[in-house]
Amino acid sequence: MAEAPEEIRPPDEPFRIKVVEAIERLDRAHREEALQRAGLNLFNLSSREVYIDLLTDSGTAAMSDHQWAAMMLGDESYAGSRNFEHFESTVRELTGFPHVIPTHQGRAAEHLLLSLLARPGTIVPNNMHFDTTRAHVLRAGARPVNLAVPEAYDPDSDHPFKGNVDLARLDRLLREQGPEKVPLAMVTITNNTGGGQPVSIENLRAVSERVHAAGRPLYLDMCRWAENAYLIREREPGWSGRSIREIGRAIFDLADGATMSAKKDGLVNIGGFVATRDEALAGRLKEELIVYEGFPTYGGLARRDLEAVAVGLREGADLEFLRYRIGQVRYLADLLVREGIPIFRPVGGHGVYLDAARFLPHVPVSEYPGQSLVVELYREGGVRTVEVGSVMFGDAEPEAGGAPPLELVRLAIPRRVYTGAHLRYVADTVTAVWRRRSEIHGVRMVQVPPRLRHFTARFAPVEPPIPARAGPGRP
Ligand SMILES: *Cc1c(COP(=O)(O)O)cnc(C)c1O
Repeated sequence: MAEAPEEIRPPDEPFRIKVVEAIERLDRAHREEALQRAGLNLFNLSSREVYIDLLTDSGTAAMSDHQWAAMMLGDESYAGSRNFEHFESTVRELTGFPHVIPTHQGRAAEHLLLSLLARPGTIVPNNMHFDTTRAHVLRAGARPVNLAVPEAYDPDSDHPFKGNVDLARLDRLLREQGPEKVPLAMVTITNNTGGGQPVSIENLRAVSERVHAAGRPLYLDMCRWAENAYLIREREPGWSGRSIREIGRAIFDLADGATMSAKKDGLVNIGGFVATRDEALAGRLKEELIVYEGFPTYGGLARRDLEAVAVGLREGADLEFLRYRIGQVRYLADLLVREGIPIFRPVGGHGVYLDAARFLPHVPVSEYPGQSLVVELYREGGVRTVEVGSVMFGDAEPEAGGAPPLELVRLAIPRRVYTGAHLRYVADTVTAVWRRRSEIHGVRMVQVPPRLRHFTARFAPVEPPIPARAGPGRP
């Protein structure tokens, strides 16, 4: 008897829907018009022009009824708000870091920390710097160096912890440069730039030992710490029966502090913090905070936002939520893999990353295969995604560690926002583009911004569509 093909099912949602927001799908002609106006950069689109928005999982979560109720508890006192106390005690309880400094989002936390610790001429190692982290290291006059394990750059390797730091390279860096050239080390959990891949506790422990032996502090970029903990629970020997919060504490115990964008695993639309064990540093961070963000009991946020973060941080660490969350990512990945579409493996925590280099092997890197694919996914189905490759990081090498950037397209899944049917629609859109991939051309960058160029660059097709549009001097 022939075996029935195994059905690919979306995960069961651990919630029901209380509020809905209408979305609309423009027709093809309007999408084409929008693309031209946007200079083929999807950051320039109006959200009204997007049907399914997988640009980012950052600040795009649906808040729970408990979070919305918490917002009503806003105590908008300038100093000493009760919401700050709840926020501070929650972060302390989850991380064990005694000093908690609220910021309006993750990059503000990076700004404060790196402007104080990273000095001109120094080096900041990381598994892989996220784009804003890298920008803040450079802005401080220091050099960001990426030290991820070699498997991190191999889309086919099924290494369970592709976010891990290459310890031999870390050793060499510390030995050759000397600790005085390395003011701090960072590790990003999960490694967003490298496909949302987790870092193991074993690796973090080894990094922590080395960095501390050199007398330097270790800071975590903990945006997706709960997703990282979930993947540790699944994959790392000895951790399978533990709670997410227990695993979290084991992680944080190895570090001296962290920066966090609460827009990720904090399940809020805005917010972040920097936390540390270093009391003297905390004092200096607060002085900077007052100049750039606000008083230390609100840090650039409405106090009600801090209350929503406090509730969201706990919800984001709920095992049933994470099972559904990562289940959605795997559901989309399974639908694509069934069609033979090349994706970065194993599937990480917050999205599916298409391997654009193999999706469009006929488009050379100089013509931005990732960006070309992003454009086609929008053209095909109104799906907005983001390039994580030669546009975002093409100007980063070799200073970021020498390895060539991966050429990826990230389909980031907002938390608690889209249904299984939405994800199936996305899979159908990617499949339709996959089937006509040989007809897809590259793009060139016609406006090149000096830094964080993916946000504002403009592009044009390499081969203009025929017939060319009427213009000056043309019939
Ligand atoms: C989003 C993100 C940041 C920056 O946070 P913002 O809230 O967007 O400023 C830093 N690091 C990582 C890994 C991120 O994903």
